[in-house]
Amino acid sequence: MSPNPMLIDSHCHLNYKGLIEDQAHVLERARARGVGTMLNIATRESEWDAVLDTAVREPDVWATVGIHPHEADEHPHVDTAKLVERAAHPRVVGIGETGLDYYYDHSDRDRQQASFRSHIAACRETGLPLIVHTRDAEEDTLAIMRDEMGKGAYSGVIHCFTASGAFADAAIDLGFYISISGIVTFKSAKDLQATAARLPIDRLLVETDSPFLAPVPHRGKSCEPAFVADTARFLADMRGESIDTLAAATSANFRTLFSKAA
Ligand SMILES: [Zn+2]
Ligand SMILES: [Zn+2]
Repeated sequence: MSPNPMLIDSHCHLNYKGLIEDQAHVLERARARGVGTMLNIATRESEWDAVLDTAVREPDVWATVGIHPHEADEHPHVDTAKLVERAAHPRVVGIGETGLDYYYDHSDRDRQQASFRSHIAACRETGLPLIVHTRDAEEDTLAIMRDEMGKGAYSGVIHCFTASGAFADAAIDLGFYISISGIVTFKSAKDLQATAARLPIDRLLVETDSPFLAPVPHRGKSCEPAFVADTARFLADMRGESIDTLAAATSANFRTLFSKAA
């Protein structure tokens, strides 16, 4: 077993407070633990340039373009055309994060849904995958994903997965991937652990969602992409797979889904 199998952090926020102040060292520490690729996720229009600049500067960092559901109220002007235009950049490899968050309800639910649909339309136009955030909104998330699938195929990932096993199965049936974050290492996450243990390995991704959600044994610290190694090891142990097997599979899955980054 190699000490540092190649891993991919499929979802991080390198330009957020907590990581931006020390970004060069954050990237160094990730690389030192075998994190060979990171996907830097956009959440609001004002950060698109910064998120992309990091990806232009760093060969192992890629970018997305999108509006987080929390931010939907503030971005009524960001439509499919605007997303498609920005997604043409060679370092932008995905659309999101988008989706529905009925836990915080920071934006009006109708606006969240409209924004979600405009992101999916951008995926259909560009052929790029969708990055879905969903919290306390399983039913509406699935209904929109299914309805939009009827208008034409698109692919994507349910990021920082915490939903039910039934939701995971339905998303996989639609062709989606499931990305597991550090939450899976939390003692309280028994349901998530049970689901993550049985998901097909050819649909799994791993992520940090850093600077949030530091996995065990880093809880209480600011999370960073290097810690995806801890989450991957925990997940591999739990699933009875070697870390090398899990690392190879999740990296291959990432390259299949985010094929523009290959
Ligand atoms: Zn999210
Ligand atoms: Zn995120």
